Amino acid sequence: MNSFAHDLSVRLDRLRGEGLWRELRRVDSSQGPRIRIEGREFLNFSSNDYLGLANHPALLEAATKAVRDFGAGAGASRLICGSLAPYHELEATLAAFKGTAAALTFSSGYAAAVGTITALLEKDDIIIVDRLVHACCVDAAKLSGAKLRVFAHNDLNDLEKILRWASQQPIVDRKRRILIVTESVFSMDGDLAPLRELVELKDRHGAWLMLDEAHATGVFGTGRRGVAEALQLSARVEIQMGTLGKAVGASGGYVAGSRALIDLLINRARSFIFSTAPVPAAAAAARAGLKLISSVEGAERCRHLWTLIAALSAGFARAGWPAKQAVSPILPLIVGDEGAAVQLALALRERQAFVPAIRYPTVARGEARLRVTVSAAHSAHDLEQLITQLAELRSSYLFTPAS
Ligand SMILES: *Cc1c(COP(=O)(O)O)cnc(C)c1O
Repeated sequence: MNSFAHDLSVRLDRLRGEGLWRELRRVDSSQGPRIRIEGREFLNFSSNDYLGLANHPALLEAATKAVRDFGAGAGASRLICGSLAPYHELEATLAAFKGTAAALTFSSGYAAAVGTITALLEKDDIIIVDRLVHACCVDAAKLSGAKLRVFAHNDLNDLEKILRWASQQPIVDRKRRILIVTESVFSMDGDLAPLRELVELKDRHGAWLMLDEAHATGVFGTGRRGVAEALQLSARVEIQMGTLGKAVGASGGYVAGSRALIDLLINRARSFIFSTAPVPAAAAAARAGLKLISSVEGAERCRHLWTLIAALSAGFARAGWPAKQAVSPILPLIVGDEGAAVQLALALRERQAFVPAIRYPTVARGEARLRVTVSAAHSAHDLEQLITQLAELRSSYLFTPAS
């Protein structure tokens, strides 16, 4: 009885009423510490381009050259029309960077997660995810048909309880696959997984670990390869995944691991098999990004980034926002109420600062927040501006951050 138009309008009204309305904002500049919207310039604290590589001349040059040499589009899936050289060069660089035997790239991190989890797991298998893992891993877990269990965020006791339950499940066809999925740096909270303990635990229970390093690649470890590198655990993580669209400065997703893992994905990952390969320029830019991350300049950018993270974290405290000490370039200011978070983002926008309000379903209801991200492309002065504005808003408005 519901007409299509009526149904949509009821649902959209509900979203507006709940403070959950979202809309696209057109940006007329490239991503950087400053962006232009509707003719006005804003300080940008919303991007995941943590090292400021998205606009780096080396990446632009690599992408331009790939367009000249390989064209604008890929033509088909890599298994259908042949696999262009830039993907192979990127995957060799990625495997060397991550210290694995092999790597495979996808059109996005989302596609990497969906393709990998559904390729690895079947109906009677078990997948255990942290409550705060990214939507792509949750969607993949559901799509795989495996039994899905969720452990409380970073709670090793809860995880162990589930692992004990899992080890008592009947063995089907002489196999019992148990896959744990977590992130090294959580995308909306900026906190870290207890990776060392997690690796011990999964080994003890014969489970496998898939580690999403989307926000850690380029930022953690002496080689800036991620948290697994920083803790010297890479060799003990079965599946390392991430994106090329954040600190790497380009676009695409990856999985790094054994040759057998990559061969299985090439044969079974549906988001890889049944999707046109990304534009070759994206692969070339990503490879240039990885090389830059490994260079002396990459080390300097990363060092600058960490100086800024410490400064911003201290600045939030000075401005009267009770945020936790930052341990990554993601610094959430928890507001709680959805409407209040949106208002705060708007108030900052009036002061020329662009900071996204993150709401349900990206985070739980009642846990709305401003998600501030910092980049090596920012200056200390940029941060001071944001800190001053937050201090003003804290005193002049009724923004009482949830503690
Ligand atoms: C961004 C993100 C992804 C998805 O990567 P895309 O390349 O943007 O599709 C996956 N996992 C986490 C934790 C992310 O933050």
